[in-house]
Amino acid sequence: MNAVVLKPGRDKAVRNRHHWIFSGAIRDLPDFEDGAVLPVHSSVGELLGHGYFNRKSSITGRMIAFGSEPPEAAVRRSVERALALRARFFDPAVTNARRLVNAEGDGLPGLIADLYDDVLVLQIATLGMEKLKPLIIDLLTGALKPRTIFEKSDLPARREEGLEETEALLAGEPVEKVRILENGIPFWVGLAGGQKTGFYLDQRESRKLVRECSSGRRVLNAFSYTGSFSVCALLGGAVKADSIDSSAAAMALAQDNFELNGLASGSGTFFTADVFEFLREPALDHDFIILDPPAFAKKRTDVVAACRGYKDINRLAMQRVRAPGLVLTFSCSHFVDEVLFQQVVFQAAQEAGRRVRILQRHRQAFDHPVNIYHPETAYLKGFLLYVD
Ligand code: SAH
Repeated sequence: MNAVVLKPGRDKAVRNRHHWIFSGAIRDLPDFEDGAVLPVHSSVGELLGHGYFNRKSSITGRMIAFGSEPPEAAVRRSVERALALRARFFDPAVTNARRLVNAEGDGLPGLIADLYDDVLVLQIATLGMEKLKPLIIDLLTGALKPRTIFEKSDLPARREEGLEETEALLAGEPVEKVRILENGIPFWVGLAGGQKTGFYLDQRESRKLVRECSSGRRVLNAFSYTGSFSVCALLGGAVKADSIDSSAAAMALAQDNFELNGLASGSGTFFTADVFEFLREPALDHDFIILDPPAFAKKRTDVVAACRGYKDINRLAMQRVRAPGLVLTFSCSHFVDEVLFQQVVFQAAQEAGRRVRILQRHRQAFDHPVNIYHPETAYLKGFLLYVD
């Protein structure tokens, strides 16, 4: 029988619809080609579902179907459900950029699909999903009729899967950057060479918040990428919004985003610099500092060093912000959960010697759903802090 058989007592996660199977849970692996979809059985021969398998990966198997549902039908249904969820919540006349498929969050491990107006961007993280790519493209093309399909799979983690990092035009005309609309605000999204799939869609709700609480404030947008928080701050009435990022390409696109929104060049300065050093500059006059760093902990063993980094920038921001001021602080490391992040912010406040209160908590935007059966899909958390 060409099935993967789990060890006795090691089938609970899969029964609970968790997507991952680690090698330690596997009793028998049949002969198979890496990336193939295989049935998964309990130790007593009960069919638990189907997953794709790769011996090279630290996560040997990833489930794409549970119970007796045939795998291709399950993938089709997961894509349909993912699209149905987004169709309910977005008015394309106001917001035409959204995440369509959020990997395990939508039951499709290894797949991110984002739509920027009529440009579909795919990110494939695993060999198993690479093999399902033709089916995925077929399903998404049928439903959306995109002008262009671009693959942005420039993920170092692909190496572990035996895949190269790649960026490629898959269909349609070549596009360098797309103009999107988010809550009525236009932004440029750079495709080739950009980060993520081009734009941090997961911060949509935080951008709305920044717009709402920037009136009359001097804003420092640290780790600004293409300046989206700065644009929102200025449209919300900020006196100025300075942007700082280590990427010169991101800074250039940030300036284009100011122009696109008719914001005067004097409304903010763009610094291509290191945030850790910049926050030590003596001449800061900001009363609203936004900290949205990259994931400092990419794996569990990074957590201690990551927390030190988070503590440093938060302490500096709390020390430097003019009181009464706001600090909007984020962590997008899955391994640093909200409880731990709050502890880090507590330590930063203690060291800064400032009075700090949490006004609001934030999570990834709702088109990045957290699968209740697969809690690893939760990664972004943030606090709006009041410092006086
Ligand atoms: N807030 C942004 C996303 C930030 S992503 C948005 O909503 O669009 C994190 C950014 O931090 C990236 O653009 C990366 O280039 C930048 N970065 C990483 N390390 C940095 C450092 N030490 N100093 C300044 N920028 C840094």
